[in-house]
Amino acid sequence: MLVDSHCHLQMLDPSESTEAVLARAAEAGVQHCLTVAVSLADSARTLALAQEFPQVSASVGAHPSDDGPEPTAAELVRLAQSPHAVAVGETGLDYHYNKGDLEWQRERFRQHIRAAREVGKPLIVHTRDAREDTVRILREEKAHEVGGVMHCFTEDYDMAARCLDMGFYISFSGIVTFRNAESLRDVARRVPLERVLIETDSPFLAPVPHRGKPNQPALVRHVAEKIAELRELPVEEIGRITTENFFRLFPAAANA
Ligand SMILES: [Zn+2]
Ligand SMILES: [Zn+2]
Repeated sequence: MLVDSHCHLQMLDPSESTEAVLARAAEAGVQHCLTVAVSLADSARTLALAQEFPQVSASVGAHPSDDGPEPTAAELVRLAQSPHAVAVGETGLDYHYNKGDLEWQRERFRQHIRAAREVGKPLIVHTRDAREDTVRILREEKAHEVGGVMHCFTEDYDMAARCLDMGFYISFSGIVTFRNAESLRDVARRVPLERVLIETDSPFLAPVPHRGKPNQPALVRHVAEKIAELRELPVEEIGRITTENFFRLFPAAANA
């Protein structure tokens, strides 16, 4: 059994129904998907999907680079209180996509952490070119009280270790299969297995051998196979461990 811990079902190509995407995932052994919101409007869509499909759970929040309406703390708390919301995010910092004075991004990140603590649900954190500020804000806002996952991890082991110390999980995407990702594969060999999650981040980042094509949850199998190869374990064992990890971190997903 496999879980896709981070996808965006609401953004997949509408030419294929969600039923068909989930059926294809099930054929590949993917029994559960966490569909992640990137804006306030998107949060309503993720919750609706989780309500419709028992094998789907949802997060709520606004991506650090979202330019829609700024979510207030109260709105975030209200959305996160939904029984279908198992996490808050994706939130975090992205200094690669956005430039200039990014105080607004840091403030948005803080609001998400506060909302997560208020409802007692874990965080889904996106970080890009913002290592120091990400760790500093997670610490200042006491994110360890709820924990969470560093999604689509692409940093070095030192950064992974700092996040592990705060109780966070590390999620690997199809990037770990890319030819030039040797340093990331090194990190994937070292993170304690009981803290590893796998994800597609679909429709983005299709893994090898599907690189450049649209991604979907079924392809998380390729991520599992690569981790299995790196850890010298059967893929079934990686599936079992990452599934257990997922439901430990997001207990609400078991009855979402
Ligand atoms: Zn992201
Ligand atoms: Zn994402």
